[in-house]
Amino acid sequence: MPEDRAHAPRTTVVTAGRPPRVPGAPLNTPIELASTYVAGGEVEYGRVGNTSWTAFEDALGALEGGRALAFASGMAAVSTVLDLVAVGDLVVVPQHAYQGSLQRLDDLEARGRLRVRRVDVEDTAAAAEACADAALVWLESPTNPALEVADLPRLIEAAHAAGAWVAVDNTFATPLLQRPLEQRADLVVHSATKLIAGHSDLLMGAVVTRDDELYEALAHARTLAGGVPGAVEAYLALRGMRTLALRVERAGSNAADLVQRMGAHPAVSRVRYPGFGSIVAIELHDGADAADRVVAATRLWIPATSLGGVESTLERRRRYATEAASIDESLIRLSVGIEDVEDLWADLAQALDHAADGGAATR
Ligand SMILES: *Cc1c(COP(=O)(O)O)cnc(C)c1O
Repeated sequence: MPEDRAHAPRTTVVTAGRPPRVPGAPLNTPIELASTYVAGGEVEYGRVGNTSWTAFEDALGALEGGRALAFASGMAAVSTVLDLVAVGDLVVVPQHAYQGSLQRLDDLEARGRLRVRRVDVEDTAAAAEACADAALVWLESPTNPALEVADLPRLIEAAHAAGAWVAVDNTFATPLLQRPLEQRADLVVHSATKLIAGHSDLLMGAVVTRDDELYEALAHARTLAGGVPGAVEAYLALRGMRTLALRVERAGSNAADLVQRMGAHPAVSRVRYPGFGSIVAIELHDGADAADRVVAATRLWIPATSLGGVESTLERRRRYATEAASIDESLIRLSVGIEDVEDLWADLAQALDHAADGGAATR
């Protein structure tokens, strides 16, 4: 949609991926439920394409500045990108990143499919050096759940100098806050399950690229690996995406406000926040038990995994055996929603008070 390029992203997110403006036409691409089509058209079978995916892809592609491909989940998108790596080649990856991506890489490494090198993405010089013999540099910024920020331009330059592709998992930032393709990344990966769809009611993923060869390779792989989304999910994800700018703005301002208040609470030893976005992590003075008490004591905040929905959720990350041992036992990841910030703080403050008094209030 070339006419969208001139617009601000918060306009594009509303206008992109609409059907042609024809009298009598619907404003939104209707959900197309079909596995098979009358022969002779562009798409003959539902694993190859669907107009509901295309509408979603056009909108996300316009936002990120590339061509998008929709997948059944973020992990289907991640796995399809990793599958492009040749046998035995090296993938550089942040030591802290989405657990599913790291576990997938571990599995592939254990089977001899590829090699993995973990880096501290905030140590730019060391991370850049680690790219020297890589085939793929996988970046996630901010990282999950440490909220570290990578120096994307410098790491992308180092990776390209080494002849490596760069993929950036842009799930936490969204294209409203960060557009890695504009910084010359080759691929952007999303769990659209999170902020893009934004309502905790579906799973979907996406890959976006400006490189036609990569696009064709990924489209081919998607068709044959079969990790395709349902039409209803694609429709709902685009419907959710229409309010992405509003949600990102509100959740982001809520997060920035809560970061200040949490930082001043005596139970909190550290607040991790990259300065933008709606995902925050806190660490507590009194360890895992105190963190478990906080999570259990909230009434408005929902104890739940995942992130990026309209509702505020939280969880202690080390409750998963697979979470990196370098993540503090007390670290709670908060996904800040769009509720009233005073309500969010009142609930969090009473839960943190509860942690600070050792749970005495319930004894
Ligand atoms: C959730 C998530 C994924 C995986 O996405 P699914 O839709 O759950 O498969 C990948 N990367 C990040 C950063 C995520 O938060």
